[in-house]
Amino acid sequence: MKITDILNNGKYSLSFEVFPPKTDTNFEVVKNATFEIAKLLPSYMSVTYGAGGGTSKFTLDIAKSIQEKYAVPTLAHLTCVSSTKDDVKEKIELMKKLGIENVLALRGDLTEELIKSGRDNCDYKYAVDLIKDIKDSKADFCIGGACYPEVHPESKNRVEDIKHLKEKVDAGCEFLTTQMVFDNDLLYNFIYKIREAGIEVPIVVGIMPITTKNTVKRALELSHSFLPKKFITLVDKFGDDESAIKQAGIIYATEQIVDLYANGIQNVHVYSMNKPDVARKIQENLSDILGK
Ligand code: FAD
Repeated sequence: MKITDILNNGKYSLSFEVFPPKTDTNFEVVKNATFEIAKLLPSYMSVTYGAGGGTSKFTLDIAKSIQEKYAVPTLAHLTCVSSTKDDVKEKIELMKKLGIENVLALRGDLTEELIKSGRDNCDYKYAVDLIKDIKDSKADFCIGGACYPEVHPESKNRVEDIKHLKEKVDAGCEFLTTQMVFDNDLLYNFIYKIREAGIEVPIVVGIMPITTKNTVKRALELSHSFLPKKFITLVDKFGDDESAIKQAGIIYATEQIVDLYANGIQNVHVYSMNKPDVARKIQENLSDILGK
């Protein structure tokens, strides 16, 4: 099933993200965790693509298995920054063969090495180039892209960032998933701005449930997101108590999602980080709203 059919069906969607293992050794453990999440029958599941392509061989395997075993639609992430045009062609063909219908087309983070090289020899500079190549391949994929309510860290400013976001949509990106946000007001403001810029595709809001003190650190490194005072207080108070911080993080994420749904946001994606218990609790907390 195409992700846009889910996002446009007039119902609230709640999807989960999983990431493949870094090595073969824990492949089965990770795969089983992703299956536990699939058993919850979320609206769809996304499977990330390792930074620099490191775990890419597992992305498609996990996405395909989830679809086949649990009939949960999947979204396979694909990054381009360290790929050649031929690599991408090959991956598109493989995705077609495996029955993958949805792709999140991303640039990928820049490694030190790529930054030093000036990226002169790279086939891909931006996600928009990947989107164009996927479109040109005539593969019948539903293509999504990433967006940044608090501006992508490399962007000069919001205006530039939204201009480039619009280029991705014009090139064929049919929906956008946001970087994690902890403050819904920032998100509402961003949506107002992108709609004003003529971006009309569905927006899926990314929510990261904080379950350990370390997740906060990691989340900030990845996203540079603003943390509201309410959130900082919660981490300060419960951060050293493993079960209390997990419970507080799940409640905080749930409250954020309820607020989003109440304010007309239809589609929410939870960065569930291969944690079935966290995904389950959040879905249970929303069961009546979701009709599950
Ligand atoms: P782009 O859309 O290319 O944007 C990158 C920067 O370039 C922005 O600052 C943009 O404004 C600017 N830009 C774009 N076009 C132009 C242009 N023509 N001229 C000048 N500047 C331009 N990373 C992974 O490695 N694997 C994953 O699975 C993964 N999943 C993600 C999922 C989501 C929802 C999000 C939000 C991020 C994910 N990332 C993932 C991280 C992502 O790869 C990084 O945030 C990366 O730095 C940017 O990727 P992008 O696709 O948004 O890039």
